[in-house]
Amino acid sequence: MTTTRPKISAIILSGGKATRMGGSDKGLMPLSGRPMISYVIDRLQPQVDELLINANRDQDKYAQFDLPILTDQHAGFIGPLAGFQLGLKHASHDYVLTVPCDAPLVDADLVATLYQALSDHNADIAVAKSDGNTHPVFCLCKKSVLTSLEAFIEQGQRKVSLWQKSLVYIEVDMSEPNADGITESFVNVNTTEDLALVASQLEAPASNSAENACISQLTQLIKSPDCESDYDPNSMSVAAAKNYIQQFLTPLQSTETLTLADGLDRILAEDILAPANVPNYDNSAMDGFAFHSSVLNQEEIKLHIVGTVLAGNTEQLSINAGECIRIMTGGMLPTGADTIVMQERTRVSGDTLLITDAPQSKANVRYAGEDLAKGQVVLARGHLLTPADIGLIASLGMARITVYTQLKVAVFSTGDELVQLGKPLETGQVYDSNRYTIISMLKRLGVEVIDKGAIADDPAQLEKTLLSAANEADAVITSGGVSVGQADYMKQLLTEHGKVLFWKLAMKPGRPLAYGKLMTANNNTSHYFGLPGNPVAVMVTFYQFVREALQTLMGKAEIETLPTFKVKCTSSLKKMPGRTEFQRGILFQSDQGEWLVKSSGMQSSAMLSSMSKANCFIMLDESTASLPEGSIVDVQLFDGIV
Ligand code: AMP
Ligand code: MG
Repeated sequence: MTTTRPKISAIILSGGKATRMGGSDKGLMPLSGRPMISYVIDRLQPQVDELLINANRDQDKYAQFDLPILTDQHAGFIGPLAGFQLGLKHASHDYVLTVPCDAPLVDADLVATLYQALSDHNADIAVAKSDGNTHPVFCLCKKSVLTSLEAFIEQGQRKVSLWQKSLVYIEVDMSEPNADGITESFVNVNTTEDLALVASQLEAPASNSAENACISQLTQLIKSPDCESDYDPNSMSVAAAKNYIQQFLTPLQSTETLTLADGLDRILAEDILAPANVPNYDNSAMDGFAFHSSVLNQEEIKLHIVGTVLAGNTEQLSINAGECIRIMTGGMLPTGADTIVMQERTRVSGDTLLITDAPQSKANVRYAGEDLAKGQVVLARGHLLTPADIGLIASLGMARITVYTQLKVAVFSTGDELVQLGKPLETGQVYDSNRYTIISMLKRLGVEVIDKGAIADDPAQLEKTLLSAANEADAVITSGGVSVGQADYMKQLLTEHGKVLFWKLAMKPGRPLAYGKLMTANNNTSHYFGLPGNPVAVMVTFYQFVREALQTLMGKAEIETLPTFKVKCTSSLKKMPGRTEFQRGILFQSDQGEWLVKSSGMQSSAMLSSMSKANCFIMLDESTASLPEGSIVDVQLFDGIV
C-alpha cells in the first residue's frame, strides 16, 4: 500500500572527515566531468521538497548549486551528527532525509521506501540497509527527534547509530537493485576504484535500460531464488528454463544493408513492401488465344485471328467483337479480351480460330496484383530469409536489403583433459570435440563464430579467455566445468564477472546448465551459456535452449522450436519417470512408405556416435516411463535444421 507523503527536506552531508578524499571535499570532486554532489542533487531533487547542503569549507564553490549551505555550529569535528543537527534545525518540513555527498548513485526510490517503512511502523527514524550492512547516514527521520539529538551531543556522545537506536527505529532492507538497474546505490566513493565503478554505472547510456533491467532481474533471482514459485535451480523443467532465458533476451538493434544475393539466412530488419503489383500486367497463363467471354454462349465459336502477343512484347494490342489474338504464356492480355483458351482446345485454319472445347469465362488469365498487390507487406521485419524469400524479393526488383547485423558468438571449451586435434592422446585425455560440434551448429544458425579454443582448468587462463570473449561477442558459449566438480573455477569466475544462474535441469542428458550475463570492465555485456561437458548433453542443450535464444538475439520475430510430430516407434524404450528425456532416434520410411522412428542404440550422454546416427530426438516427457515397441512417441527433427 502506498501512502500520500508529507513534505520532506533533505540535507546532503559534505562537511565531515568521511566526506573528504586526499584533502578535498568529495562533493566537489569531479566525476565524469561534474562535481560528485551534483549527481546526488539530481537524484534527490525529484524525491524531496527542500534540499540543503552541509559544508564546512569551500562554501563559495558549493554556492554554484544555488542551495542553502549550512555550516557546523560546533567548533571541532563531531562527525555526521553535526550535519544531522543542522538539517533537523533548519529544515522547513517535518521530515528530514540525510544522504552523504559521495553517493552519486543514491536510489531513486530512497525517500518513498524509507517513508513507507517509517509510516508503516510508526517509527521516528528509518535507516537504509543492504546486503546485511546498515547505512546510518541514509536515513529519514521526524524533525521532532532534534531534542533527543541535542541531548545526545550534549552528553559528549558521537556515534550516529547509537543515537538512532535510542529512538523508535526501523531498518529498511534495500538490497534489491532499483528499477534503473543500479546495484550500487549505497556505495560511498572512497578510492579511485570506487570512482571508476560509479562512473561506469553513471555512464551507462539510457538506451541500456533494457540491459540494466535484465541485469537487475538476474541479480534478484540470484539473491532470492525462491521469489518465483516455479523457480527451482535444482530441478528446472525444460519449459521453465526456456522461459527464464527468454525473458532476459533483447534482440540486436544494429542493421546493415546487403546486396540481395548475400541475404540468405539473415534476418530482415525492415518490412519488404511490394513496390508495384506482381504481376504488373494482366497476362496469359497458357499458350493459346485471347478473346472476350461474351462469345462463350454461342453454339459454334469461330473468331478471326488478328495478331500475336509473345511474352516480353510491351505493346498493348486490342481486339474487337469477333476477333482473337494468338497469345503465349506471359503475354500481355489485349484490350477487349478477358479469357484465354488453350491452344490444344482449338483448330486453326488460315486466320480463323475454331474453339473446340470452350473454357470457363475469364479462364487462364493471370491478373495484375494477384500474387502481390502494390504496397502489401511481402515479408515482415524479423523474418529469416530462405531461398524462396530471396527469389520473392528479386521478383520485386529490389537489389539491396537491410538486415540485422550478424550476431557474434564466442566459443571455448574447458578442461585439463582436452587435447587439440592432431596431437597424440594419452590415457586420461580426450580430444576437444565439443567446440567442433558447437561451432558447426552455430554455422548452421548463421552467426559469426569467434573460436577461443580449449582452455585448461586454470583460473587465470579461463578468466582471460572469458573476458576477451565477453568483450568481443554478443554471446559466449562454453562447455564443461559448470557442474559442481572440484575444478570448479568457471563458477567462481562467472560470479565475479557476471550475473549467472546455475541450474540442474530435470532432463536427460544435460543436467547442468548456466545462463546469465557477463559484464566486463569496459562495460561490455554479453549473454552467457554454460553447457555441460558431455558431448551429447552439449548438443541436446544447444538444440533445446541455445538455438532459440540466439535466434531471438539475432532479431528473429517468430521463434519456433524444432519441428515436432508424433510417429510410431519400432523399438522399446527404457525410461524412468521424473524428468524429460531426449533419446536419440532415427526417423525412417518403412517398405510400405510409412514414416516410423527407432532408437539409435546406446544412449550414453558421452557417446557422440548415437547422435551422429540419429536424425531426431525421441522426446519422452517427465511422466513417461519405459515404453513397449509400437508406442506412439513425440519426435523432434534436428537433422538438416541445425
Ligand atoms: P565436465 O562438465 O567438465 O565435468 O565434463 C563432463 C564430461 O565431458 C567429462 O567426461 C569431460 O571429459 C567431457 N568433456 C568436457 N569437455 C569436453 C570437450 N570439449 N570435448 C569432449 N568431451 C568433453
Ligand atoms: Mg571439466
